Amino acid sequence: MNTEPSARPLPTAGARSVIAYVPGKPLAELEREFGIHDGVKLASNENPLGPSPVAMRAVASAIGELALYPDSHGYRLKRRLAEHIQVAPDRIVLGNGSNELFQLLVRGYVQPGEGVVYSQYAFVAFSVVSRAASARCLVTPARDWGCDLDAMRDATKHAKLVFIANPNNPTGTWVGADALRQFMAAVPPEVLVVIDEAYAEYVDEPDYSSCVAWVGYYPNLVVTRTFSKIHGLAGVRLGYAVAQPEVCEILNRVREPFNVNHLAMVAAEAALGDDDHLQRSLQNNRQGRARLLAELAASGFDCLPGCGNFVTVDCRVDAVPIFQALLRRGVIVRTLHEYAMPRHLRVTVGTPGQLDRFLEAFRKVTIRGAEC
Ligand SMILES: *Cc1c(COP(=O)(O)O)cnc(C)c1O
Repeated sequence: MNTEPSARPLPTAGARSVIAYVPGKPLAELEREFGIHDGVKLASNENPLGPSPVAMRAVASAIGELALYPDSHGYRLKRRLAEHIQVAPDRIVLGNGSNELFQLLVRGYVQPGEGVVYSQYAFVAFSVVSRAASARCLVTPARDWGCDLDAMRDATKHAKLVFIANPNNPTGTWVGADALRQFMAAVPPEVLVVIDEAYAEYVDEPDYSSCVAWVGYYPNLVVTRTFSKIHGLAGVRLGYAVAQPEVCEILNRVREPFNVNHLAMVAAEAALGDDDHLQRSLQNNRQGRARLLAELAASGFDCLPGCGNFVTVDCRVDAVPIFQALLRRGVIVRTLHEYAMPRHLRVTVGTPGQLDRFLEAFRKVTIRGAEC
């Protein structure tokens, strides 16, 4: 066969501009590469206590239902969620992780060439979904590592949609309720404002508030939540968006009919009923985060002043050799090169035993120099 080497399917300019997402290294991969068996993964902000035992039991007893398609409308889970967050079920859309919802929002509201606003250092999924859809990415410079809401408001004059992660990953920065209310009042009403609250449950800051309850007032507000973080269900993929019914209807039109799998819905519904697990997870996070900050400070390392279930530590030198030396000691953390933060590492708050491992390894590799 004679094939012209130049004749190839041409991906869209958007697809070509995507910088592929780099996930945290899986434990199994680390263990294969380094021949160790007791690795610790603190790289993906997963719940170190695992899923709720109630959710695990529910999934086990639903296994026999796998031959059936899932409920396309998520009737039961939406009713349960509606009760939980005090909104009507027709204000909720389920997604295969909140990541899918970001994609659906862009698909439903942004045409190629139209603007999407997000901040420097914002969660990288915003850039991936926007670029993939050939949107024009309007990235505003950060202020103290977080959102410069004035700059973002100005940028929305040329945009269809704005993403704010509150709090943000990887910086842990958050936007206070008053500032966010002012922002909502100033943004043109035809611009969709997407507030990603993946870490909302972890936040103790007094000026913070979830804006789920504001959805009734703002037809252009969408709030996303996830079961991947405090609920410990990252592996089954379940997120949800809260918005007015008109927005929900659009998302439901552009999603695939069975975007959320049955086990995910079963697990999530059960997890909502296990407040003990949630409280244990919160407690572990509060103590572990305070310990990480204190011990890193005692070793002379500053962390970004944020919130969430992770800390972002300034290594003061290129973080890659430190990351690699930690890997050799069986500890996986996250480098932040995709964010142009080459000196920082992001470390998930683990169990006390996992933090022992990280802190011991970190002290060794940063005292001796990362070559060792
Ligand atoms: C982890 C994370 C999410 C969750 O994504 P899922 O697709 O729901 O697993 C969303 N936003 C931010 C900022 C995150 O760090």
